[in-house]
Amino acid sequence: MKNVIVIGSGLGGLSTALRMAHKGHKVTILEKHSTAGGRLNIIKKDGFTFDMGPSFMSMTYELEELFESIGRKNPIQLEELDPLYQVFFEGQEKPRQIYKSLENLEKEFADIEPNLAEKVDKYLTRAGEFFHDTEDKVVKANFNNKLEYILKLTRVPLKHLPYLFRTMWKEVDKTFTSEEVKIIFSLVAFFLGSTPFQTPAIYSLLNYTEMRHNGYWKVKGGMYKVVTEILKILKEMNVEIHYNTEIVGVGNNNGAVHELVDNHGKKWKADIFISNSDAASFRGQILGRKSYSPKKLDKMHWTLAPFTIYLGVNGRIDKLKHHNYFLGENFKGYADMIFTSSVSPQKPYYYVNALSKSENDVAPEGCENLFILCPVPDLRFKPDWSDKEELALNIIDDLSKRVGFDISSKIMTKTILGPDDWESKLNLYKGSGLGLAHDMDQVGAFRPKNKDEYFNNLYYVGASTTPGTGLPMVIISSRLVTERIENDFRAV
Ligand SMILES: Cc1cc2nc3c(=O)[nH]c(=O)nc-3n(C[C@H](O)[C@H](O)[C@H](O)COP(=O)(O)OP(=O)(O)OC[C@H]3O[C@@H](n4cnc5c(N)ncnc54)[C@H](O)[C@@H]3O)c2cc1C
Repeated sequence: MKNVIVIGSGLGGLSTALRMAHKGHKVTILEKHSTAGGRLNIIKKDGFTFDMGPSFMSMTYELEELFESIGRKNPIQLEELDPLYQVFFEGQEKPRQIYKSLENLEKEFADIEPNLAEKVDKYLTRAGEFFHDTEDKVVKANFNNKLEYILKLTRVPLKHLPYLFRTMWKEVDKTFTSEEVKIIFSLVAFFLGSTPFQTPAIYSLLNYTEMRHNGYWKVKGGMYKVVTEILKILKEMNVEIHYNTEIVGVGNNNGAVHELVDNHGKKWKADIFISNSDAASFRGQILGRKSYSPKKLDKMHWTLAPFTIYLGVNGRIDKLKHHNYFLGENFKGYADMIFTSSVSPQKPYYYVNALSKSENDVAPEGCENLFILCPVPDLRFKPDWSDKEELALNIIDDLSKRVGFDISSKIMTKTILGPDDWESKLNLYKGSGLGLAHDMDQVGAFRPKNKDEYFNNLYYVGASTTPGTGLPMVIISSRLVTERIENDFRAV
């Protein structure tokens, strides 16, 4: 039995705590924020309960695996979404419904994209082959060094090679004819916090996971239920959580960490330390590593920052469904500038989640609970967010027009979080929403490793280490780090 400290209670940290406690270790979690969950968090205000970040789950079998691995039944009730979401194009009265069923999808786009079912079938079959040829070999594997990783890559069938050298946009451009369908299939690039013009075509595997493999799921009771259910189990396992406790320093000797120092000057000792704080910025900001110096961190490719609005609205907005995308004109022009712009977008693209469409307890009766997410440049490019109210108004006005409902006059509660808030609340580097991006030089053995380079008892879990970002990925990350620790300590 070892004493284990997990720094941070994001889903990655919580999942690792579950696995380590199940193996019989004494686990303590130290969390900077006042609540658990990290980005998977909750905002309760004026009778409304908002999910703060994630609004859907994919690859739900990873959640199943997590509970199975600790000998528990999955306590979380999941509900599959179909249609998956709807997309509002600028200047088009009727939103397009995105169905999982290819027959329905073909009907929905019959006016602009002939033979859609056949095209999508071919596209998803190809993406699916890539997914299954890489999932176990590359995504769900620990690598000790770059050579080992590259050797593993050579075992991926050569037919997938063109995927590496094409962007996602090129892939959809050669498959579909209508601009709308191309845009819809390329939206998943934004889930990776990037744009389809930069994201490699390999990530069309996300189209496969959402449209064929496992689909999109919502959590009954709201996304935060995942956290509350895990917290209940952790309590039964005697895992302690200390909130408002930020780790600001590390004491070490003989190549090992022996204690952590928190913001109150308190020292925390353990045998094994696991950082759920960002794997790149923790190495730079807390450990002072040269390869993660401020200059080097800034040069890395980070995902887009979130600009989020949480609105309680008096009245029901009929045109909204559970997931809604609102897109403007000039997709490429918009995508090219949002990363590096120093001003707020004038005609923003955004996503709206209306949790009250399927959950009764998240808003007073007859009211709507809206979460609006607009991807924006991070603090490296736009450090000043004093125009937050203005951008929020701009989005709310646009939304009001497009759904034919005057939202502004019916707002009962409003909370706005800019990249600066996401950074200060959860230590997200420069407010980047999903952590490090997934370019080929930032994945696999090229991503910050889940074991520290110098300290033999310091490990990492979460979005910026392997395999990557998103809820299922950080659950996989918790499995990979637990396996690595087990191997290391079995050998001792
Ligand atoms: C707006 C938004 C929407 C998203 N939507 C989805 C979605 O719909 N589906 C999906 O799958 N994914 C989504 N994601 C991505 C997903 O939320 C993340 O990939 C995942 O939650 C990351 O979990 P994590 O454990 O790596 O880190 P985090 O959730 O960031 O948790 C890290 C924790 O560590 C704490 N911490 C940091 N530094 C320290 C320190 N020095 N000392 C103590 N504590 C510290 C932080 O406070 C935080 O609680 C979304 C993300 C955002 C921002």
